Amino acid sequence: MKKFPAIIPVITVLVGMPVMFSVASAIDRQIPVISKDEAAKTSKQPPTPALKGEHAPVHRQTSWFYVGEGAAHHWGDVDQSYAACKTGQSQSPINISRAVATEELNDLDPQYQAVPLNILNNGHTIHVDLEKGGHALINSKRYRLVQMHFHTPSEHYIDGAPYAMEAHLVHADEQGQLAVVGIMLKLGEHQNPAIEKIWAALPGKPHEQTLSDTLFSASEILPANLADYRYDGSLTTPPCSEQVSWHVLKQPVEISRDQLVRFQMLFPVNARPIQPLNGRQVKTRQ
Ligand SMILES: [Zn+2]
Repeated sequence: MKKFPAIIPVITVLVGMPVMFSVASAIDRQIPVISKDEAAKTSKQPPTPALKGEHAPVHRQTSWFYVGEGAAHHWGDVDQSYAACKTGQSQSPINISRAVATEELNDLDPQYQAVPLNILNNGHTIHVDLEKGGHALINSKRYRLVQMHFHTPSEHYIDGAPYAMEAHLVHADEQGQLAVVGIMLKLGEHQNPAIEKIWAALPGKPHEQTLSDTLFSASEILPANLADYRYDGSLTTPPCSEQVSWHVLKQPVEISRDQLVRFQMLFPVNARPIQPLNGRQVKTRQ
C-alpha cells in the first residue's frame, strides 16, 4: 500500500507519550588504539569464501523478532537459511573497545546525491530506499548506495555502552559484496534536520510506504568527521550473512529526545545483541 505523507497529526499525538525504555547517556566515548605490533599477537580468523550475489536482504519478511519466541538468540533455528545467525564466527554487531592503528586504510569518500524520499515500514525498521542515491569510495573501492535504516538502541557498542540509535547506510559493490556505514545517533538538545525530514513522513504501520517529493541525500546525516572503526562482520538481521565490511563512524550525530521517542513508538527495541569477536580485529586509521 502506498500513500502520500499526511501523518503529521499522528506524530504529534505520539510525541506526547512516554519513552518506552531508557537509553545510554549521550557522551562521546574514547577507546584505546593499539599498535600493529601489539595487534599481531592477537589471533585472526581465517577468511571464508566470498558470498557471491548477496544482495542487500537486510530485512526479510519472515517470522523473526527482537523480543519473545522469535528473538535474536532463536534466529538460527527459525529457518535453515538463517543458520549463520547461530553458527557464524564473524557476526555483527560487536562491542568496540579497542582498535588497531593502521596506515593502510583510506578515508571514506561518500559521493551521495539527493533523491525523493521513499520510506518503508517493513515491520522491523524504517527503511529509506536510496538505490539512486549515489555511491561511496570505501577503502578505495566503489560501492553504490542501496538503502538506509535505523536501530534503537544502537547495535554497536562503543567501549561497553550503546548510543540512543544507530543508522545503517547499506552499500553494495558490483559483485554484491556489502559495506555498511554505521552512524551513531546520540541524544542532544537539538533536532536533527536529516532525521526530521524522514520522520515527517514516517509510515506508521507495518508494510506501509510513504513517497514524497522531499529530496534527501544520505550525506545530510553524516557527521563532519568520517573517521571510522572497521571490521569484518555480518548482517545484523536474518539471514546474518557474513562478508560484510563494517565502518562504524566515531563521531556521533545528535537527535532530540522527541525524535527518539517518535521512532521508539513504532519500534521500542530493534537491535541485535552484541556478538563475540572471535579473534577479529577492529582497525582504525592512524
Ligand atoms: Zn541495520
